[in-house]
Amino acid sequence: MSNQELFDEACQYIPGGVNSPVRAFQSVESAPVFVKSAKGSRVLDEENHEYIDYICSWGPLILGHNHPVIQQAIIEASQYGSSFGLPTKIEVEMAKLVVESYEGIDMVRMVNSGTEATMSALRVARGYTKRNKIIKFEGNYHGHSDGLLVKAGSGAMTFQTPTSLGIPEETVSQTIVCVYNDLTSVKKAIEQYPEDIAAIILEPIAANMGIIQADEEFLKGLRQLCDEYHIVLIFDEVITGFRVDYHSCPKFLGVVPDMVCFGKIIGGGLPVGAYGGKKEIMELVSPSGPIYQAGTLSGNPLAMRVGYAQLTYLKDHPEVYQHITSSAQYLAKGIEKILNELHLPFQVHQVGSLLTLFFTAQDVHQYTDVQTCDTHLYTIFFKEMLKQGILIAPSQFEAWFISDSHTKQDLDDTLIAIHQALVKVY
Ligand code: PLP
Repeated sequence: MSNQELFDEACQYIPGGVNSPVRAFQSVESAPVFVKSAKGSRVLDEENHEYIDYICSWGPLILGHNHPVIQQAIIEASQYGSSFGLPTKIEVEMAKLVVESYEGIDMVRMVNSGTEATMSALRVARGYTKRNKIIKFEGNYHGHSDGLLVKAGSGAMTFQTPTSLGIPEETVSQTIVCVYNDLTSVKKAIEQYPEDIAAIILEPIAANMGIIQADEEFLKGLRQLCDEYHIVLIFDEVITGFRVDYHSCPKFLGVVPDMVCFGKIIGGGLPVGAYGGKKEIMELVSPSGPIYQAGTLSGNPLAMRVGYAQLTYLKDHPEVYQHITSSAQYLAKGIEKILNELHLPFQVHQVGSLLTLFFTAQDVHQYTDVQTCDTHLYTIFFKEMLKQGILIAPSQFEAWFISDSHTKQDLDDTLIAIHQALVKVY
């Protein structure tokens, strides 16, 4: 069956034909790529077209598709059983590994997704501070829980539903939305509610409105404000955790939060998430404390074993970080060179192994800048790239992910395709 035929059939049984909106490729007016298999930097679709993949499951595949370490871990893990609803040794080992990797956290609780991680972290922050309001930032995405789906990035931005129908107004009223990289907007909110704000949650490197790094001054300012007003600072590291550095954003950016949320990357491609924090905060979580949060499949032994295998591999192979970062730098420089040659005014943002080409002439610093991007041009560009066998994010407002399996040849082929696609755009 072709991708289109599969999609038509899928639409009969699954809303919009997909189990997560951005997979529909709707915003880039294409049939989605139905993946049959993947290896290294490549995916093969049901029509037997091969692509160099820069989606990489939206982040967890830092080593690339079907890496031998992961494959072996899955095989081994499956021999012991898939779920027990009882504790396992690997959960303890995994918790220790994650805690030891991250400055400032003493304890961690495993969950099943990034959404669960951020939702739970906020409950804990509210219980700890006995306050209700939270601050988030325009264009940051923290999953699809009610209070966080307010002016959100990622698919919510792509599909122009940054605030979803079905969320009670009372819930939204507890979420204050501030401007990314604008400390004044945060100060104003805090001055308005000095006793009411439980937490500030942010992506320390925004990856869901394209890649935008938080300014040093902004991050340090948030840290100071949180200390001054006893607000819990939460880093959502669902994308950046273990990706920008094995020790994540505290090492990469030099600011330490009170709580952290992890997602997909700690499962090596299996469904997982986690939130952690200082002991005095985390000890309030049930059963050691009164804040309830639970999960039948949390700490699932398959996800733990595979995640543990990926994280220990990363810990033992720091050269992975050098490789993926230098690959992304190579790609970013190559794109800039092409833009100069073609006299195109677009912006390339690269942080670690994450990259976005913004189709705007404006400097991109926050949400309103991102909104000046020409999504129509992005659609043309995306389609041309797809034709040439390069799979990039099917939305202007997402990151491209570079894995350890992307070779120099892959990058050079990608640059040739980018050149041709940009020529077609104009
Ligand atoms: N937080 C961030 C920064 C994300 O990028 C995502 C998803 O991409 C989430 C939270 C939600 O994670 P999940 O899709 O696993 O629920």
